[in-house]
Amino acid sequence: MSLSQLARSIKASPTLKLNETAAKLREKGEPVIHLGGGEPKTKPPLDAVLNCASQLNTGEVRYAPADGLPALKKAILRYTEENYGRMLAPQNVIVSSGAKQSIMTLLYAILEPKDEVVYPAPYWVSYPEMVKLAGGVPVAVTPEDGSFVPTVPDIADKVGSYTKAIVLNSPNNPSGIMYPAEFVAEMVEFCEKKNLWLVMDDLYNRLVFDGRKAPNPYDYATQDVSQSKLVVVQGVSKMYAMTGFRIGWALANRELVEAMTNIQSHQTSGPVTVSQWAAIGALSGVQSGIESLRLTLENQRNVMVERLAAIPGVHVTKPDGTFYCFPDMSAYMKDSQKLAELLLERVRVVTVPGKEFGMDGHLRLSYCGTIKEIMDGLERIKWALDPQAPNELVLGDRKLVRDWA
Ligand code: PMP
Repeated sequence: MSLSQLARSIKASPTLKLNETAAKLREKGEPVIHLGGGEPKTKPPLDAVLNCASQLNTGEVRYAPADGLPALKKAILRYTEENYGRMLAPQNVIVSSGAKQSIMTLLYAILEPKDEVVYPAPYWVSYPEMVKLAGGVPVAVTPEDGSFVPTVPDIADKVGSYTKAIVLNSPNNPSGIMYPAEFVAEMVEFCEKKNLWLVMDDLYNRLVFDGRKAPNPYDYATQDVSQSKLVVVQGVSKMYAMTGFRIGWALANRELVEAMTNIQSHQTSGPVTVSQWAAIGALSGVQSGIESLRLTLENQRNVMVERLAAIPGVHVTKPDGTFYCFPDMSAYMKDSQKLAELLLERVRVVTVPGKEFGMDGHLRLSYCGTIKEIMDGLERIKWALDPQAPNELVLGDRKLVRDWA
C-alpha cells in the first residue's frame, strides 16, 4: 500500500493508544490500573445533560454554522468576560470539535510550508504532530535549568526568521506546572514586539491548586483584539469533565477566526450540534462542579506526590494544577518507553513515557482516577522498582513473585 509521506510521518496519539491497551487488558480480566488517562472521572454537569437532552427530544438535529451556534458563542463570550475580564465579539470566537481541532485549524490558517512553531518541553504530545500535519516544523525548547519552567531567553534562543508562532500550555500537560505570571507577561510582550502568534492553550486554567490562580494573558496584552496575534484556546473537556462531547474554542482576531471558519467548514462543517447544546448547558448552568473537581484533584495530587516521594530515587516536582504529575524516574531507567512497558508487563500499571512529551527519563502519571487507584498503582510501581520491597505482591486474586533483581 502506498501511503503519503505525511501519513507515514505522523505517529498515533500515544495516550489514546494506551487507553485501548488498558481496555483490552481489562477485557481479558487483567487487574489493570490506568494511571495514563487524560480525563476527569466525574459526571458532566447536569445542566449540560439536561439542555442537550431537551433539545434532542425535539428531533431537530441539523447542520449548524461552521464556527458554532450563536447561542454557544454567546455563552462563551459571557464565560470569557467573567473569567478573563475581556469583552469580545462573536466574530472573535470559533467553536471546534474539541480544543484539539481549534489548534489544528489555527495551525492550518497561519502556517506556510516550513514555518516553525516553538513550544516549551515537556509539551502536549499532539503539538509536534499537529504542526507537521499543517506543513510546519515543530521546535521544542527544553529549559536550560532542567526545570519545567522555560525562561524568555530559552525561548528567544529558538526563535528565528522562520518562527511563526509560540504555543504555551499552562498549567501544563504533562508536568502540571503553571508558568509564572511574569513569564506569561514577558511572552505576551515578546510576541507583540516580534509580531508572532502567541497561542495560549488554557485548557487546564481552572484546575489550579494551593489557592493560586492562572495568569490571564489578556492582562498583559497591549494591542487591540483586532490587531492582536494572541489566541486563547479553551474547551469544556477538562473543567466540566466533558471530554466525549468534543467541544473546544479559540478566541482570536476576526480575520483569523474567519480563515479558521473557512477551513473548518470544509473539514467537519462545524462541531456536532448535539454537543454544542450540552456545552451551552454547561457554560450557562450551575458552576460548582468545577470547584468540586478542582478540590478533588488537589487532594488526589497530594496523595500521588506523597506516595511518589516515598519511592527512593524518584524526583517529583509538585504539580500546580491539571491532573498530571511528571516524576523523574531516570534513577531507575533512562528509557521511559522501556520503563512504561516494564510497569505494564510486570504490575499492570499504565503510565505514559516522558519521551512522548519531549522529556525522556520521566513518566506521566495521572491522578484523575480514584484515591484507591492512585495508592494501589503507586504501591505496585514501588514494588516493581524498589529492590528493598518484599518479594511478593498480591494483585487481585493473583500473587506476583519478584523474579528480577
Ligand atoms: N491541549 C492540551 C494541553 C490537552 O491536554 C488536550 C487534551 N488532552 C487538548 C488540548 C485537547 O482537548 P480537547 O480536544 O478534548 O478539547
